[in-house]
Amino acid sequence: MRNARVWAGLLGLRKTVVERVEFDEQQQVLVASVRPGRGRRRRCGVCDRRCAGYDQGAGRRRWRALDLGTIRAYVEADAPRVSCPEHGVVVAAVPWARHGAGHTLGFDQTVAWLATVCAKSAVTDLLRIAWRTVGNVVARVWADTEAHVDLFDGLKRIGVDEISYRKGRKYLTVVVDHDSGRLVWAAPGADKAALAGFFTRLGPERCARITHISSDAAGWIREAVTEHCPQAIRCADPFHVVAWATDALDELRRAAWNQVRGAARGTTRANNRNHRPTGDTKALKNARWALWKNPENLTLRQKEQLDWIAKTQPALYRAWALKEGLRTVFAIARRDPAEAIEALDRWISWARRCRIPQFVKLARSIVRDRDAIIATITNRLSNALVESTNTKIRLIIRRAFGFHSADAIIALAMLSLGGHRPELPDR
Ligand SMILES: [Zn+2]
Repeated sequence: MRNARVWAGLLGLRKTVVERVEFDEQQQVLVASVRPGRGRRRRCGVCDRRCAGYDQGAGRRRWRALDLGTIRAYVEADAPRVSCPEHGVVVAAVPWARHGAGHTLGFDQTVAWLATVCAKSAVTDLLRIAWRTVGNVVARVWADTEAHVDLFDGLKRIGVDEISYRKGRKYLTVVVDHDSGRLVWAAPGADKAALAGFFTRLGPERCARITHISSDAAGWIREAVTEHCPQAIRCADPFHVVAWATDALDELRRAAWNQVRGAARGTTRANNRNHRPTGDTKALKNARWALWKNPENLTLRQKEQLDWIAKTQPALYRAWALKEGLRTVFAIARRDPAEAIEALDRWISWARRCRIPQFVKLARSIVRDRDAIIATITNRLSNALVESTNTKIRLIIRRAFGFHSADAIIALAMLSLGGHRPELPDR
């Protein structure tokens, strides 16, 4: 029957017999009644093994398929149960959908592809599904992908990081490949046990082949690395080190702001005027970006703010110069490692004597982690690749807010950055 083949093609069905197609006037949807093709019946939904039939289950079921033009389409079939020697009584496998899913394989695949390339609202509007549903779909598509690929092939130099999700209350541990920039692995939790999960899965043989591991100075990372990859050289990610300096600078800026504000309040009270922020407090508050951004990216206005800080807040300006100095150390490292190490030591002695408590403290942390920082410099570990992957992971996690599980967040990150991006069905 040629018509049935056309319908199967339109609905993206394989190894499936289309019995008839009807238009449901009441719900305004197209419904294709189908059954599994020969050889695809009475298989366990979990392991796909051929089993004995058990019963008719809960009767007929519908699966959402891709829209046909503007019309919503469903596939409808019996959902009998089988008795699997390993998995017990389970709903039989169907060739058009994953076990337990309410959408067809083609639908799942399209959702996964869209979720990795489009904005949230583009996916939900186009496919008329909730963002939570997108989360469920990407989780099962990733579970399937992960089962068929080797994520750890040829891994030598890795970066370990923790990333917060759920507005900072929960953490993921992520592992990135320094050589390809791929996200290799992610799991909920940021502690020794979470990272041990990665090393266990990697296995002792491949753990032994890891040469370099970069991370921030977190103690739990160090402990897990010593335990599972004692041969690996521990390196410090330059962007973490620069982030410490940025944090110290911000702490100082806030202190300066509070001080100026306190002084302003004192004057206003004395003069019996309204409490209003003075020009100085406002300017300090607005100068945040001027202090944070790399000088080459500053706008004209931000450059002016920086000049103003140089004149009015000399300590804050020195702190800014210290932050920039540290960034320069890593910029030099790309060109000349030996010179960068000299520059690092000059920076340490400068920071030690700077009389800014936040930076004296930072100098101490850097001395503590000096070996790891020097390992990064001498091994020319490409910071840019890992930093850009980290930035992308953070963006994806922000988008994934609203997924109900960490698994779905991880799935979207892995599908997007793990080197196995979903393709559109039948391409
Ligand atoms: Zn089974």
